[in-house]
Amino acid sequence: MEHAQDETVPSFGSRTGACNFQPSAVNFCDDMGFPFKALVNGERSSVLTLARLTRTDPQPLLANLFVRQDRRTLRFRGNDLSPLARLHGVMQFCPSCLQEDMAAYDRRVHLAPYFRYVWSARPYMTCHRHSLPLHQTTVPRSDRGHDFHRQILPHLPNLQKLTEGSVHRPATDFEHYIYARMTKRGDQWIDTIGFTMAIRLCEILGSVASFGRWATHIEHTRNQWRTAGDAGYQIVRHGPDALQAFLSDLQTQEGRDSRDGARSDFGNFYLWLTETRDPDIEPIKDIVRQHLIDSTPVGPGDTILGRPVEKRIIHSIWTASKDVGLHPQTLRSYLATAGVVPADPSPFHNHVLFPLEPNAKLLDQLSRAMSLKSARTYINCERTVFPLLMKEGHVRPIVQGASINPIFDRV
Ligand SMILES: [Zn+2]
Repeated sequence: MEHAQDETVPSFGSRTGACNFQPSAVNFCDDMGFPFKALVNGERSSVLTLARLTRTDPQPLLANLFVRQDRRTLRFRGNDLSPLARLHGVMQFCPSCLQEDMAAYDRRVHLAPYFRYVWSARPYMTCHRHSLPLHQTTVPRSDRGHDFHRQILPHLPNLQKLTEGSVHRPATDFEHYIYARMTKRGDQWIDTIGFTMAIRLCEILGSVASFGRWATHIEHTRNQWRTAGDAGYQIVRHGPDALQAFLSDLQTQEGRDSRDGARSDFGNFYLWLTETRDPDIEPIKDIVRQHLIDSTPVGPGDTILGRPVEKRIIHSIWTASKDVGLHPQTLRSYLATAGVVPADPSPFHNHVLFPLEPNAKLLDQLSRAMSLKSARTYINCERTVFPLLMKEGHVRPIVQGASINPIFDRV
């Protein structure tokens, strides 16, 4: 009995037990002096015992361990698999892969089929080698569900039928990614995100991209999740800039209701960001938060995704009017005259945006502005002399235009 290079350790233990005519992996491991559960939970000492007893190089076994971190999480080659990344009470396999296993054996061929580690990942739904949908079967939720040999035995006579009955479909880029990442982690941005979180990011973002902002996740079929996962991956694989570009698209799509802000712009994606408690989500939140600071009128005093905004980048007429202390309509007239905002009067004050930084000086002046009458008093000037001073450029209004009353700075 040889351990296959991409075989999980419980699968190897399961086949070894069967090879030794044991009724189950649980019985076999009990006889060897450790519980089968220890292999399922990736306990090193038991794996080393299994390696010694089977005269197997321990390194490939240790490399394929799913190590239990806590009640919810397993870790595989640096990738955390929380319950959302795994299957529960269900096992999936590629019938063609198992047929190949059997074809490679001369005798006792029923011992050949083994469980590939990538089949543990829920979003991996298509064999990338055979372009076949993985077949699913229910298994006990207990450790016996990991006794692959016992679980697969009833399906072995049907493998050919299962292969023939399946419609070929190429694995998606996302499915290729899942396999690649579990084999060897890459160095793209998405690889810096925790495994389960990267999967959910692709799926939730892709659900918004493919099925709309408020698609009901609970009603997504397996195939719809597969579509969503790949749609999200096509965005996220290109890094944070691509994610932000997608968010910008959502913010500018027709039919949006921007009065509700990010929540209604990003729909389920935003809801997911606010409701997920896993700390692995923080780097994603950071990107969305910065995107909102760069694109929406938020500033000190506002909170985005649980953190206060420290610096304002964008003003709306509305937020600027509060800062400057002018009526929004008045401020808007001045800003339109100065060319800061379009003259079109139809958008709401809170929809008319402009960057703070290049206009900071103007806003500062407007906050101190005086009317013509106050300016005259301020410089103690005769009513008749003031227009002369203006004409000769000794006093200049902050902004000048036919449709507005001139106002003046104090300096
Ligand atoms: Zn296959």
